[in-house]
Amino acid sequence: MTAEQRLAQRGVSLDEIATLVLELQQAYVPTLTMAECRQSVEAVLAKHEVTNALLTGIALDELAERGQLPEPLQTIVARDDPLFGIDEVLALSIVNVYGSIGFTNFGYLDKVKPGVVGRVDARRCGGQCNTFLDDLIAAVAAAAAARIAHRQHDGDL
Ligand code: MG
Repeated sequence: MTAEQRLAQRGVSLDEIATLVLELQQAYVPTLTMAECRQSVEAVLAKHEVTNALLTGIALDELAERGQLPEPLQTIVARDDPLFGIDEVLALSIVNVYGSIGFTNFGYLDKVKPGVVGRVDARRCGGQCNTFLDDLIAAVAAAAAARIAHRQHDGDL
């Protein structure tokens, strides 16, 4: 199963992630379109390390939902303990694919939680555990925005 299909199963569309990319980059690239943002999200998802991070995090969220993680992980992940930190660490493996611009973008999205990042945040979403998912979505958007910044710098946009 592809990363896009797994995201869809968890209620997240690529267009929602592309919307975050547009918000992040339109101040720097005024001509940027949703189609270009969506294309950038798809390019990020096409990388193996990104797919692997997404599949791993989503699997852990689902195991926590079913109460199937060993303790103390089950309690920590189900509760979305803010001091856990491994959800962010896993997400950083995605952010770093397009260099350090992605890092600041990710920090912003993680802090402000705009759009779909806020929606899937476990504390606002009864029943579903999204401890890893919110960080993974923010990371994909941050990397896709960084990719656009690099392409603009190289004159490809
Ligand atoms: Mg999280």
